[in-house]
Amino acid sequence: MSLRFQVETTTGSGGRRAQLELPHGVVQTPVFMPVGTAATVKAVPQNVVEEINAEIILANTYHLYLRPGHELIARSGGVHRFMSWQRPMLTDSGGFQVFSLAKLRKISADGVEFRSHLDGSKHFFSPEHSMAVQIALGADIMMVFDECVETPASWERTRDSMALTHAWAQRSKDYWLAHRDEVPWTHPLARDVVMGYDAARFAGKHQALFGIVQGGMYPDLRRESAERLVEMDLPGYAIGGLAVGEPREVTREMIALALEVLPKDKPRYVMGVGYPDEIEEYARMGVDMMDCVLPTRAGRHGLLFIREDPNDRASAVLRLNIKKQDNAEDERPIDEGCACMVCQRYTRAYLRHLFACGEPLGATLNSIHNLAFYMETMQRVRGDLATATR
Ligand SMILES: [Zn+2]
Repeated sequence: MSLRFQVETTTGSGGRRAQLELPHGVVQTPVFMPVGTAATVKAVPQNVVEEINAEIILANTYHLYLRPGHELIARSGGVHRFMSWQRPMLTDSGGFQVFSLAKLRKISADGVEFRSHLDGSKHFFSPEHSMAVQIALGADIMMVFDECVETPASWERTRDSMALTHAWAQRSKDYWLAHRDEVPWTHPLARDVVMGYDAARFAGKHQALFGIVQGGMYPDLRRESAERLVEMDLPGYAIGGLAVGEPREVTREMIALALEVLPKDKPRYVMGVGYPDEIEEYARMGVDMMDCVLPTRAGRHGLLFIREDPNDRASAVLRLNIKKQDNAEDERPIDEGCACMVCQRYTRAYLRHLFACGEPLGATLNSIHNLAFYMETMQRVRGDLATATR
């Protein structure tokens, strides 16, 4: 068993309330996953990530492979123990970062040669190597290695890239099936008593592998990609290559197309989205999982999400720029209707002061509020979906 997905209710528009059971715990879906790029949700300590009710977080394979190295993390008992996070985790395949961050890429059918964005050192990622790195990290969910086509790309270019992605997905699956017992969950260090390790919890359990639907902005390719991946019978499916600059109605169309084809009894994950109103919209369409750096990145830049009417948590989302002079003596919290620990304690005036001084606490508090805002949004959506009748 690597994953169990139980749908409780489904609405007329396809949105579903479900539970995703993973080796490190149960996740209530639809869920937003905070991004912990380098085994840290930037500027936010793990106990706070728990307190805002994040049930699953994401880590980036490319970054952890370069620093501190997946072998070091495996020697320390896996990424859960390394970063002291005992709830579920997901790692991406490294593909997106190889194609967006790394320099001088050379792509062949076998894999991608690239230079590190940190020091220019040369590396090679293949589907098998991505799997080996992700198994060493030991997240509950791994992603197949895929090629992320540039945007915009021609139909022919997108089709060829998609074909490569499908071949790599099959190779990722083959490697996963052959090596999934190598996950470091039973490593002696992972048995740390302080961490509340329970050996029985991991008996017979494996990491799950998700496929990634590509196909650019072409409906026929998107559909074909989804169909090909479904044939591979993987535990879950992601929709990748979206929110890369295309108009929002195109994103929505590509998601809807993929959702039509992907199985209703497996989790469906849209990678790298989005604004609070977007994640709400996609969840109501039937997307179960999403992740984005936006809440933490915006927070570090002093951009805070609030509701237009603080007493109506379903009202429009606005952005408060904490840097602005008009916040200098504003005694209100960021969002008067927000129950987060930041809004319970600090004023806009104080947060503006922290930002103006470049105090690290400002980045931390802003990130916590934004993450809590996303969590609250998804909790409200889950409540709506749970009470919906079929
Ligand atoms: Zn708040």
